[in-house]
Amino acid sequence: MGSTASTRNGTWRNWGGTVSARPAREVAPASVDELAAVLRRATEDGLPVKAVGSGHSFTSIAATDGVLIRPDLLTGIRDIDREAGTVTVEAGTPLRRLNVALAREGLSLTNMGDIMEQTVSGATSTGTHGTGRDSASIAAQIKGLELVTADGTVLTCSEKENPDVFAAARISLGALGVVTAVTFAVEPVFLLTAREEPMPFDRVCAEFDQLHAENEHFEFYWFPHTGNTTTKRNNRSAGPERPVPRLKGWIEDEFLSNGVFQAVNWLGRAVPASIPAIAQISSKALSARTYTDIPYKVFTSPRRVRFVEMEYAVPREALVETLRELKAMIDRSRLRITFPVEVRTAPSDDITLSTASGRDTAYIAVHMFKGTPYQGYFTAAERVFTAHEGRPHWGKIHTRDAEYFSRVYPRFTEFTALRDRLDPERRFRNDYLRRILGT
Ligand SMILES: Cc1cc2nc3c(=O)[nH]c(=O)nc-3n(C[C@H](O)[C@H](O)[C@H](O)COP(=O)(O)OP(=O)(O)OC[C@H]3O[C@@H](n4cnc5c(N)ncnc54)[C@H](O)[C@@H]3O)c2cc1C
Repeated sequence: MGSTASTRNGTWRNWGGTVSARPAREVAPASVDELAAVLRRATEDGLPVKAVGSGHSFTSIAATDGVLIRPDLLTGIRDIDREAGTVTVEAGTPLRRLNVALAREGLSLTNMGDIMEQTVSGATSTGTHGTGRDSASIAAQIKGLELVTADGTVLTCSEKENPDVFAAARISLGALGVVTAVTFAVEPVFLLTAREEPMPFDRVCAEFDQLHAENEHFEFYWFPHTGNTTTKRNNRSAGPERPVPRLKGWIEDEFLSNGVFQAVNWLGRAVPASIPAIAQISSKALSARTYTDIPYKVFTSPRRVRFVEMEYAVPREALVETLRELKAMIDRSRLRITFPVEVRTAPSDDITLSTASGRDTAYIAVHMFKGTPYQGYFTAAERVFTAHEGRPHWGKIHTRDAEYFSRVYPRFTEFTALRDRLDPERRFRNDYLRRILGT
C-alpha cells in the first residue's frame, strides 16, 4: 500500500489521519480460493472481515477490529476483450496501474476522479467520481463484477446475470462481499484538451448551466473569502498532443499546487487571521493555461498536501443556490479556510446507492488542512447541504445515519434487503455500516 495507508505496530491508519483501527489479524490472499478460505476461517472464529483498498476514505468505512484483507496480491489485468470494449481487472489493482496498462494497450476509461492512488475496488465501492456532463462515476463504467460472499460463494453479476446484485454491488460500501474482479467498459484512448481559467464567482454562478452544457467535463474551485474561482473545462480533441511543458507543469502542479500550498496552509494554521489575505493571493496565483493529453494525465494530478474532506451531492438544479448559501454562511462566520471549495457534476445513474442515483447531480466538496479543526466548518456546511436533500460521499466525512438515507435514497431498502440476503450474519460489519445502514 506504499505511502497511502499502512498497518504499523498493529495499527491501521487512513490517508487523511482521521481513522485508525487495530485489526485482530491481517491477510493478503493471492487468489479467489485463498480468499474464500480466509472468509471460512473468520466465520469459524466469529470475526468480522473487511477488505481495504489504499485507505483513501476519510470515513471509517474501511476500519475493522476483525480480519483485515489487504489488496496487494489481488492485482493485475485478467483480460482485455477488444471486441466487447471491456477490460477485466483484479479488484485490488491501483487505478494508476490500470490507467498506465490501459494506455499501453491504446485504451482508456471514459471518466475518472482527480487522483489515481486508490484501488479499483476501493474507488468503486464508495462511488468515486470525477466530473462529467454525459459520463458518470467509475462504478457507472462497470460492466460486470465478481465477488465472494460471506459463505465463500463466488458470485458474478452483470446487467444480464444476477441483475439485482449488479444494481447494488457496483457501489457496495464493502457491505455485500469481497469484490475480486471488476469488468470495465473501455474505449480507444483519446485526447482531451484542458482549459484552466480564472473566473469571478458571480459569473460562474450566472453561467453555470451553460458552462455545464457546453463542456464534456466542467468543474471549478471557489476560494473562500474571495470572489474568485479557477474553472477547468476538459473536452475531447483531435489533437495534436500538447502536454503541459515540463517546467511549467512542475511549477504549477508541484510548486504552486502542492509545495507553496503546503506552506500557505502552515502559515494559515499558525496565523488564522492572515487567511483571507492569503486566499486573495493564492486564488490568483494560477494563470490560465491550455494543454492536450491522454485522459488520465488530464483528469488526475498528485495531491501531496494532506487534508480532510466532506463532499455532498445535491440535485444539479440546486447547485447555485446551495453554493451561494455556503458562501453566505462562510462570509457571516468567523471561519478561516485556506482550501478551495470544489464543484463537479455527474449525470443521473442507475446504481442503488450512488450519490447520483436517479438524479442529475452536482457535487460540492469542502476541505480543511490536516491538523486544523474542521468540525465547525463541516457541521455548518453539512446543514446547508442537507437542506437540499444532499447525499454525502460514502468515503468522505459526514454525520448522517440510516434514517436520513432512507429519505434521500428512494431505493435504500432495496440495498438493505440484498445485504440481508448476502450477509445475514453481518460478516462485513463495522461501526460505520451499522450507522449508515441501520444494523
Ligand atoms: C487525496 C484524495 C483525493 C480523492 N479524490 C477523489 C475524487 O476525485 N473523487 C471521489 O469521488 N473521491 C475522491 N477521494 C475519495 C476516495 O476516492 C474514496 O474514498 C475511495 O473509496 C478510496 O479508495 P481506496 O482504495 O483507498 O479504498 P478504502 O478507502 O481503503 O476503502 C473504501 C471502501 O471500499 C471497500 N473495499 C475495498 N476493497 C474492497 C474489496 N475488494 N471488496 C469489497 N470492498 C472493498 C472497503 O471495505 C471500504 O468500504 C479522494 C480521497 C483522497 C484522500
